[in-house]
Amino acid sequence: MDEFSLIQQYFQRPSSDAVKANHQLVMGIGDDCAILDVPRGQQLVFSIDTMVEGVHFTQDTAPADIAWRLLGAAVSDLAAMGATPNNFTLALTIPELSEPWLQSFSDNLSAAAQAYQITLAGGDTSRGPLTLSVQVQGFVDSGQALLRSGANTGDVICVTGTLGDSRAGLSLLDHLTPDADQQYLLDRFYRPVPRVASGLLIKKYATACIDISDGLLADLGHVLSRSKKGGKIDSAAIPLSPQLKHIAGDKALHWALSGGEDFELCFTLSAENWRLLQRELQQAEPGIALCEIGVVTEESGLQIFQDNKWQAVTAQGFQHFSNE
Ligand code: ADP
Ligand code: MG
Repeated sequence: MDEFSLIQQYFQRPSSDAVKANHQLVMGIGDDCAILDVPRGQQLVFSIDTMVEGVHFTQDTAPADIAWRLLGAAVSDLAAMGATPNNFTLALTIPELSEPWLQSFSDNLSAAAQAYQITLAGGDTSRGPLTLSVQVQGFVDSGQALLRSGANTGDVICVTGTLGDSRAGLSLLDHLTPDADQQYLLDRFYRPVPRVASGLLIKKYATACIDISDGLLADLGHVLSRSKKGGKIDSAAIPLSPQLKHIAGDKALHWALSGGEDFELCFTLSAENWRLLQRELQQAEPGIALCEIGVVTEESGLQIFQDNKWQAVTAQGFQHFSNE
């Protein structure tokens, strides 16, 4: 099979004209470039993510899981900006032409694309060590993108969903017969769901936002340093799933604070807007929970209240205050 028929068979799926119209795509797969109409009054928001076998996933990872994780992680960056996903391109480097692998990968990529309302608009295919890059594109109303840099002193710090599940899933990869709780955590690792709807909802209220890919402490640290602020968080307020508590025991909090790849959102907003957002949430369909975990401070540095005392968070982890 040559590259042309491979693309036709696996990636050039019939997408209805309605979807194309919705997605502003004038030209998708098949020409030298794709063409996109950027709606008037909107800005194009884009980002690229790469996954390499042996670095981001092991050799025995199912192509279905690779597809969901690849697109979920990439779309999460759009969610963090409060953007609406529109289309993506795929650079696929494969060591050999395995039709079962391509079938499962492309079927699941297509299902994930459907789930996240994003259209495959083009890509590139070559031979080499298994490497997958996805560039995602979305739109925001001009000037409305959620940045990392807008947190104000006194803002409430919040997160979506629960934290630590993906790290717990990672610890379970060699479990051959997972029970229901273990399977839940494995799914959280393999199939992170980008918080697109949450991003769109909080955009109206938030001052800053990031998706949690490196762990809460690290990613909240990015928001605070980009905003030139500090923060205080309460370890007792960190949302943990029952499955995590069951499986991780006394590691649960550590994984929630430092484990990466939950792809939940961490955002800041004024106390008044937090009240308004909670009111809007009560009226909306029940979806992903939002949870207050701390406050933005004028003084730089991140502190966490744990074991009945405030502890400073450093790159190495927590450090007890020497003068306390
Ligand atoms: P060129 O050589 O001009 O770069 P290609 O033969 O690589 O063109 O690609 C032909 C068409 O197929 C282009 O529209 C490209 O975007 C698309 N394409 C190539 N590989 C992929 C892929 N893995 N997934 C989706 N579209 C692809
Ligand atoms: Mg090419």
